Amino acid sequence: MKGFFGEFKKFILRGNVIDLAVGVIIGAAFQAIVTSLVDDIISPLIGLVANTDLSDMVSVVNGVEIKWGSFITAIINFIIMAFVIFLIVKGINKMVELGKKKEEEEPTTKVCPHCRSEIDIKATRCPHCTSEL
Ligand SMILES: [Zn+2]
Repeated sequence: MKGFFGEFKKFILRGNVIDLAVGVIIGAAFQAIVTSLVDDIISPLIGLVANTDLSDMVSVVNGVEIKWGSFITAIINFIIMAFVIFLIVKGINKMVELGKKKEEEEPTTKVCPHCRSEIDIKATRCPHCTSEL
């Protein structure tokens, strides 16, 4: 039993589990913002144009309420979430790419002014023509 809890502790203390928890919490908070945006701003705007409130779009079939307005709201929520996540991932990819480019651009070699050979940037003497630099 001790080994089991030890393993569990190791699992919890692994950095990526905490990262994941932070991601889930931020995601949940973000979901609340998107839901509010759609319910409080976008739905009323659609209501202005279509002259109906999305949450009022309920059809009664055989005495059963079909809340297809709420369903449309959920779809709009999803599209906005997906779009924002796409933008975030795109931004992160760009940052990673920029970081990579910077690493690549750092020169590690130079050209010897005497024999035009490519040599190490820190070299004080050329290994090809033995000139001092
Ligand atoms: Zn040289």
